[in-house]
Amino acid sequence: MAKVVCPHCGGNARIASRSKMNDKGTIANLRCQCLDADNCGAIFVTTQAYSHTITPPIKSTQQICMDLISRLSKDEKQELQRDLFV
Ligand SMILES: [Zn+2]
Repeated sequence: MAKVVCPHCGGNARIASRSKMNDKGTIANLRCQCLDADNCGAIFVTTQAYSHTITPPIKSTQQICMDLISRLSKDEKQELQRDLFV
């Protein structure tokens, strides 16, 4: 779980609940409570949002490869097969 920092004191906070803000759940509001109850104890909402993908999921990579392979000529496919499975 990602660390949440209290915007008031800079201390650690815990996520008390998560509310999806879109259908896929890639944007969510996190209700958080500062763990420094003696000196701060703030309760606040922060937003978590998906940004971008570094490595695509395996299924996507396989699909990309299959799409590319399907565009090769028969000779190119045979050449690829020889290179891959020698
Ligand atoms: Zn705090």
